[in-house]
Amino acid sequence: MSRKLVVLHVDGVSADALEGALRARKMPSVQRLIDAEGYRLHRYRCGLPSTTPFAQAGILYGDNSEIPSFRWWDRERRVIVQFGAASTFKKVADKYFHGSAPFTADGACIAACYPAGAADDFGIAYQDRSYGQEKGSRSAANVLVPYLANPLHLGDWVWQTGAVATRTVRDYLTSRSEGRRPARMYVATDVVEEIFVHHLTRYAVQKAMREGYSPIYAGFYAYDETAHAFGPNDPSALRVLKHVDHTVARIASAREDRYELVVLSDHGQVDTTPFDLGEKLAGLMPRLRVRTVKGKDRGASAETAAATILITASGGLAHLYFQDSPRRKDYQDVADLARDLSGLPEVALVMARAGDAPVFLHRGAVLDRSQLGRILSDYDDPDILYAQLVRLNSFAHSGDVVLFGSFVDGKQINFEKQAGGHGSIGGEQLHPFFLAKAEWKLDLSGITGAHQLHPVLCDLRDRLASRPRQGSAAPRRPAPR
Ligand SMILES: [Zn+2]
Repeated sequence: MSRKLVVLHVDGVSADALEGALRARKMPSVQRLIDAEGYRLHRYRCGLPSTTPFAQAGILYGDNSEIPSFRWWDRERRVIVQFGAASTFKKVADKYFHGSAPFTADGACIAACYPAGAADDFGIAYQDRSYGQEKGSRSAANVLVPYLANPLHLGDWVWQTGAVATRTVRDYLTSRSEGRRPARMYVATDVVEEIFVHHLTRYAVQKAMREGYSPIYAGFYAYDETAHAFGPNDPSALRVLKHVDHTVARIASAREDRYELVVLSDHGQVDTTPFDLGEKLAGLMPRLRVRTVKGKDRGASAETAAATILITASGGLAHLYFQDSPRRKDYQDVADLARDLSGLPEVALVMARAGDAPVFLHRGAVLDRSQLGRILSDYDDPDILYAQLVRLNSFAHSGDVVLFGSFVDGKQINFEKQAGGHGSIGGEQLHPFFLAKAEWKLDLSGITGAHQLHPVLCDLRDRLASRPRQGSAAPRRPAPR
């Protein structure tokens, strides 16, 4: 019998974090899927950078090349590309995903970074609350008004938001009193907002299921936001997983015998220590003007500077661009900068490109392949990690110099002000999870990049719909009512 498919993307939850929450009995509904329905928890590797725009592009389109970070500099268009509230991806979107077959073609893609060919996004885009502009995007009011009109939802949301706000303030004060420093900028707004959007997204998924869309892909970001603010191992992050579990339960019970469910994450998080790379670089090289995505320029004035360096950071990953260079610089032109930065104790590894060959530096010296292998073995399987690094280094949009943060006392140096982070190498940030029924016989053991999930999910979608794998003109779903 034919089945439709709904995929829940739970942002930032590593396979280890999920297993920890299951052991602590915080996710009884997910546990029930495993115990009663034969679900299996797979681990996979998302590849580099371990960020949502990269991993989600891979999952939805099978193509995530030239997405080197959460934010980057497009030298050709001279624009800082970034996602989130001030997303500028639309300025370069025409360059991406040509010839790929999006996973959600004719389905619903809710709260994702990209439209992914969907017929509808239910008015909710990823961390971008300006809705309803795109073709195939219904007005958010069509989702929001019925949601809020139902007193059950409103009661649910007001109660939970109040509870979350109270806990968030308490967690913040506790962290401060214990000498930890949660990232304040996240605390006040994002966590509460994310819980609201989490509920709205869940409602939109239920609506999409009632309307018969397939496949449905929906992103949930509250855990990731909370882990950025407090760290992935903080009790407040664990508490958000209870909301996630509740959402899994609601969607699971809405399946009836029409839908099958996959739950996955895109990357994990690690505990981090913030480090102001811009300030450090301006002090190290006073002839440079140093620019960051947020904040004022530092170092030499615009008139006297030898060059302007733009830093775009995603957690423990930083791309450095000579902003006036129309193309990626060769290693020989950035050797001094690369060497000096690799000497910083906060920097584990520096990557650049000499012709087509990657160059890696550590503690002020260029590494040969075996020296590099020994360093990489502290972070993951060194051959897999090497291939992931080389792929990132092959992107024309990568920085002239690329930095990876060190681990100091078990925490990664983070080039943003966050208590938890991802984007770089090391720990659980590169190891997300994929929860699927064992009877589907998925083998994810060889997956070393999120783009390799795309054919797996497309094949599952098509097998469940009981139709030929490729090239069929048969509709995947009835026309929505
Ligand atoms: Zn994140």
